Amino acid sequence: TMLLKVSNLKQRYGNVYALNDVNFTISEGEIIAILGPSGCGKSTLLQQIAGMQQPFMGEIKMDEVVVATNQYQLASEKRQVNMVFQDYALWPHMTVFENIAFGLKRKKLSKQEIKDRVEELASLMKLEGLLERLPAHLSGGQQQRVGIARALATKPRLLLMDEPLSNLDVKLRIEMRHELSFLLRKLNISVLYVTHDTDEAFAISDRMMILKDGQVEQFDTPRSVFEAP
Ligand code: ADP
Ligand code: ADP
Repeated sequence: TMLLKVSNLKQRYGNVYALNDVNFTISEGEIIAILGPSGCGKSTLLQQIAGMQQPFMGEIKMDEVVVATNQYQLASEKRQVNMVFQDYALWPHMTVFENIAFGLKRKKLSKQEIKDRVEELASLMKLEGLLERLPAHLSGGQQQRVGIARALATKPRLLLMDEPLSNLDVKLRIEMRHELSFLLRKLNISVLYVTHDTDEAFAISDRMMILKDGQVEQFDTPRSVFEAP
């Protein structure tokens, strides 16, 4: 079933169209890699879908419900969408536990329910034993595990990942790429995964979107994209 539909989406900064008539749909459980050179509109597209900025033109729908037009913007926290950032963007003054629990505080959950959910995520992301630490006392890989746990905590339908592994060293990046691919499929969550790394995109995605100058140039299986004539 269809999860996300983006229609005729445009966004501009001054005279620059960062997105220039973007159209695509994704289904429940699909993992989409978004590739393209710096400045092609990847970050802008994620920000639009996350609800961090409003379209200049066009429409975004989730589950057949309009969440954004140039007239209307459903608040970020009301979309079942969470983001994982390249630089982790953890709250430095909060422990791992508090970082993961952050989004859960807004839900009407008991203390025990929050604790159970955080521990479940810590186990999923191999963070057991680190819950009382501050982010500064974690490795880069551990910090990104916290970023992913935090994003998964509220059980979003769609995860937006903006170069989540590109700050890690090569060895760890390749290790986590496979772990992440396995995990995301196990959770059956839909993902838009921005990366510069074609090997990573190949390993992780069901389909690849190639963006160029704010337009979707290709959107197909990794095989078809790389075997294009
Ligand atoms: P990336 O390529 O990783 O997306 P960028 O360097 O393009 O990173 O952008 C980083 C941040 O700077 C983004 O939040 C983006 O919106 C903002 N940004 C990018 N280009 C400009 C610009 N020309 N003027 C102002 N802000 C910009
Ligand atoms: P990417 O993530 O692919 O690097 P962006 O979405 O960050 O691309 O940027 C797309 C285009 O929009 C680029 O030309 C960039 O310079 C411009 N841009 C992005 N954010 C801003 C901003 N806040 N102000 C002005 N121009 C921006």
